[in-house]
Formats: sequence, C-alpha cells, structure tokens
Amino acid sequence: MAVNCDILIVGGGVMGASMAWNLARRKAGRVVLLEKSYLGAGSSGKSGAIVRQHYSNRLTATMAQKSLRVFEQFDQIVGGPPVFTRTGMVLVVNEKDKAGLDANVQMQQELGVDVRPVSGQVLADIDPNARLSEDEIAIYEAEAGFVEAVQVVSSYAEAARRDGADFRLGVEVNSVVTEKGKVVGVETNEGRYNCPCVVLATGPWAAQLGKDLGVKLPVQSCRTQVALYRRPADFGRRSAVYCDFVQGIYFKPTHGEMIHAGSLAGEEIKQPVNPDQYNEAADGDFLPSVRQRLSRRYPAMHRGYGRGGYGALYAITPDWHPIIDKLPGLEGAYCAVGFSGHGFKMAPIVGQLMAELIVDGKASALDIAALRYARFDENDPVKTPYGYGVMG
Ligand SMILES: Cc1cc2nc3c(=O)[nH]c(=O)nc-3n(C[C@H](O)[C@H](O)[C@H](O)COP(=O)(O)OP(=O)(O)OC[C@H]3O[C@@H](n4cnc5c(N)ncnc54)[C@H](O)[C@@H]3O)c2cc1C
Repeated sequence: MAVNCDILIVGGGVMGASMAWNLARRKAGRVVLLEKSYLGAGSSGKSGAIVRQHYSNRLTATMAQKSLRVFEQFDQIVGGPPVFTRTGMVLVVNEKDKAGLDANVQMQQELGVDVRPVSGQVLADIDPNARLSEDEIAIYEAEAGFVEAVQVVSSYAEAARRDGADFRLGVEVNSVVTEKGKVVGVETNEGRYNCPCVVLATGPWAAQLGKDLGVKLPVQSCRTQVALYRRPADFGRRSAVYCDFVQGIYFKPTHGEMIHAGSLAGEEIKQPVNPDQYNEAADGDFLPSVRQRLSRRYPAMHRGYGRGGYGALYAITPDWHPIIDKLPGLEGAYCAVGFSGHGFKMAPIVGQLMAELIVDGKASALDIAALRYARFDENDPVKTPYGYGVMG
C-alpha cells in the first residue's frame, strides 16, 4: 500500500538528516526520509568533518560560522553526546596565494572570526611539532576544529525521529513521479510514496534523480582519498587542523593518536566515478606521497605509523559550491546537493535554510541567492581567488 507524507527527503547523509530534524521540529507535517543504504553511507560517514570559517566569500564563511555555533553545543541543541573537538586551524600559503589569503582574513575579521597571522615562533607555541619556513605565510583560526561525522548524522536522525520524522533505511528512490508540472510522489524498491514535496539530498548521486526529473544537476561524483597515520609516541597531544597550500594537503588530528590527511589540490575533478562502484581503498602511491608532504610540515611524521587509507566520494559542481534551491519548472521539488568536499561544516545551517525554503517559501536566515540552481546557466558562478576548489 502506498505511504502518504507531506515532505519526502531522499538521502540519509548529514544534509538529509539535518533537514529532517529542522523540518520535524517546525512541525512541517509528516516528514519521511528514505535512504537506500544506511545513515551516512555516502560522503558523510567518511568525512574529515573539519569545521573552519575560512572561506573566500561572506556567504559561505557565515554559513560555517552559524553552523559552528550549533556544533559547539550540539548535545544541548540537537541531543546525543558532544561532537565538536576544538583544535584551531593553521593555514599555510606561499607568495602566490598571499593576496587571496589577506583578503579572506580581512573579510573574516569583519565577520568577527578569531583569525590572525602567526610567525614560525608563535606557531611553535601553538603546535610544537610544526615547522614553518621563512618564505611561508601562516594564519591561525582559533575556533576551528572537527566534529565526529558519524555521530552527527546519528544524533540528527535520533532528534528528528523524536520530533516525529520517519526514517526508512534500505529504501531506494528509483524515480520521482510528477503530474502537470507538480511532484506527486516517488517510486521505490518498496513501492509508492505519495507526497507533494521531494527534497534531493543525494550527495554524489544527485545527477541521477535530477535526470529523472528532467533537470540537469551539474554534480559530478568524484573519488577522493584519505591517508591515515598513527603519530609516534613522543609526538605529544597538541596539534591543529591544517590547510597546507604549500604542501597541497589538509590534515587533522583524530582520536586514537591518528592523523587523517588528504589532498587540497582539487585533482578529484579528474576522477569521475560511478558512486555505486568505485575503489574504496587508497592507491599505493598516494600514501607515501602524502607522508612525504606531511613530514615536511611535521618532521616527526617521518616516523608515523602508516595505517592505510581509503577512497571516498566528493559531489563536485563546476564552481565547487553547493546548489541549494527549488528545482526549476517543477512545483514541490527541491535540492541541497553538490557540497564539493567541504559541506559537512555547513550542515546545521543548510538544514535550517531548507526548512525555511520549504515551509515559508523563502530562506530567511541568510540570502542564499548566490547558491541558486540557475547560476551556471547565467554564467555567474561563486568565485574564489584560490586554485583549491575544496577550500571554497
Ligand atoms: C574524505 C572526505 C573528507 C571530507 N572532509 C570534509 C571536511 O573536512 N569538512 C567539511 O565540511 N566537509 C568535508 N567533506 C565533505 C562532506 O563530507 C560532504 O559535503 C557532506 O558529507 C555531504 O553530505 P550529503 O548529505 O550531501 O551527501 P552524502 O553523505 O553522500 O549523502 C547522500 C545519501 O543519499 C543516499 N542516496 C542517494 N541516492 C539515493 C536514492 N535514489 N534513494 C535513496 N537514497 C539515496 C546515499 O546512499 C547517501 O547516503 C569531506 C568529504 C569526504 C568524502
């Protein structure tokens, strides 16, 4: 028998789960979330989940800022255990990126972000293992850190269920059913769901259902890689998150004395993959290459214990920024997709904005016109001075 609901979310990653909770707490009607695998099975469960406010435009910096406030008190606001670990973030550039960095730091300071330039000496106080050459420029964002990605998704789902949302796992949406330009339901492996409103939160799978709706969602599913190392015993506990443009890598401490490291160079765009069939292991040459670069910043990591790595998915748009909008020409269809490898930190505000868009007809917490679907056709992409898309 068909299930009836008011709002149907496709995708149980961090975006779908955050939306479900934001909609349910607003009593927006019967909210159902369908996830074809398990919660966080896409990008979310494998995310580095670094939370920084460093962006090149006010909108995304503000989205990160507002979301950080939620993550800091996640247990109070959403529920479950605390999820945020504050480490601070160091961003290192050379002359080539100095102008972009200076402009971004100025903008962030205007927004009230605690960010400042640091010398090698000051960096040694913050993070004794780090090395900075004289020709390198570093800044320190004190409030940054990372969240426990799997726990965030799970706590959102728990809170959404508490507020009445229905999560159904192992249910794949095969098509969206429309009549006279309006959404009327979806067909799944478990039969029909009737609903006047469908939200795509389908991460790297976004283009597939978009096509079914007759909408070209310019989101590429691309493979990225992560390398993992156990720190040597004498490393000590203090370390920060890094966005190291000079070495072309980001890295962060994780629990269990580990370091999680990945590329910043944006080469993922050259690796489009089928999201249902990609190599989930790390390439043999990736691990030594990351170790070499990591050791230039952290000499002690020459002695780091390799713990392998893994392959994961980014959902990349042409300007490496998400599409958060109604879908054109179709009443009742929405999307929040294409977070391009840096969306986890924005999930709290994205959930809120989507609830506003769906329930009130307009997002009011922020003006998100810059993230509209039509920007690519209008040749008005979101711009960044950096050549590293994932830094936004
Ligand atoms: C290795 C890695 C490191 C990252 N590091 C950071 C970071 O440090 N900071 C940061 O902010 N961001 C980071 N990101 C990006 C961040 O994780 C993503 O932007 C975010 O998780 C995207 O969430 P999502 O809900 O949009 O997509 P996903 O988590 O991919 O969720 C989409 C879900 O939709 C489901 N689905 C798809 N199609 C269907 C269908 N037809 N029917 C039912 N279900 C369907 C999938 O199974 C999946 O679970 C990283 C990502 C990766 C992979």
